Amino acid sequence: MHKYDIAIIGAGPAGLSAGLYAARDLMKTVIFEKNTVGGLITQTDVIENYPGAPEDSSGFSLGERMRQQAADAGCTLVYEEITKVERTDGGFILKGTREEYMARAVIIAGGSVPRKLGVPGEAEFTGKGVSYCATCDAMFFRGKVVGVSGGGDSAVKEADFLTRFASKVYVFHRRDELRARGEVRERLLNNPKAEVLYNRTVEKVLGEAKVTGVELRDTVSGENSVLPLDGIFVFNGFVPDTSAFADMVETDEAGWIITDERMRTSAEGVFAAGDVRNTVLRQVVTAAADGAIAATQAGLYVDEHGGRF
Ligand code: NAP
Repeated sequence: MHKYDIAIIGAGPAGLSAGLYAARDLMKTVIFEKNTVGGLITQTDVIENYPGAPEDSSGFSLGERMRQQAADAGCTLVYEEITKVERTDGGFILKGTREEYMARAVIIAGGSVPRKLGVPGEAEFTGKGVSYCATCDAMFFRGKVVGVSGGGDSAVKEADFLTRFASKVYVFHRRDELRARGEVRERLLNNPKAEVLYNRTVEKVLGEAKVTGVELRDTVSGENSVLPLDGIFVFNGFVPDTSAFADMVETDEAGWIITDERMRTSAEGVFAAGDVRNTVLRQVVTAAADGAIAATQAGLYVDEHGGRF
């Protein structure tokens, strides 16, 4: 069985930062990634608010630079999903889809996954007009009319991005004021190709072979109406990705992992970093900072509990 001092789950900014710090501490370090290295930022066109990132830094290129830096420091990256973590003598057993691994300490940095609309037609038309990633799918909607559900930073930023391709972008927000603030909001509100429909929820995704429209509910009048569309992008926030740790660590009511300021969870030897935490800000800069703290604290823990392999 492969044995590591520190196992990190998730290769987004939190996990890659943790990997960099742990490897530089000469810990035998592994990061597991089941999906895309770089995490959610790879689905963002430009990262504008990570201090020092080049002006044209795409989420993908920033993630790639983080990966390279962690690898150069000696961190191993394994493309495998960890489905279960169990405590054992001297550490933890991590059960992957292919192999089992052992680690003295674990850092959970698995981030979050999009919250679904949960309405009829959504699952049926996913990939046929329903999307959760504008940078992945925007090019399929050149000259077409699309909708965006949500009113937070993701919905507003991605709606603005979509106007580069689509002829018209409607944003459906469930209340009368966007959650997104500042420059991101102003840019959308001043975009002539975008229109925000306030007090609207998506009740149904309509289609035949592909999406043809949505049924909307006006939350003030209670009336439903049909809007023809070629696609619908869902940005209704995110939910934590913690199924491998069910019952192991304490979470808040919404499932976000509770930590102290040293990124320690309720389970000794298990740390959490980045979006997966119950935190006040989910940004690249906070994820990277969390990862650094988690790695240094996990290193101290390893040296005090069983030592390095
Ligand atoms: P978010 O801030 O949680 O916003 C989710 C949006 O979806 C809210 O407008 C919410 O409405 C709406 N919503 C949630 N559940 C819904 C439902 N069942 N039906 C209809 N609407 C629903 O999520 P986010 O925009 O993905 O952002 C997540 C985090 O990443 C935030 O901390 C954000 O600041 C950060 N982020 C930052 C940037 C950036 O450029 N700096 C970009 C993207 C994301 P209500 O407003 O009514 O709650």
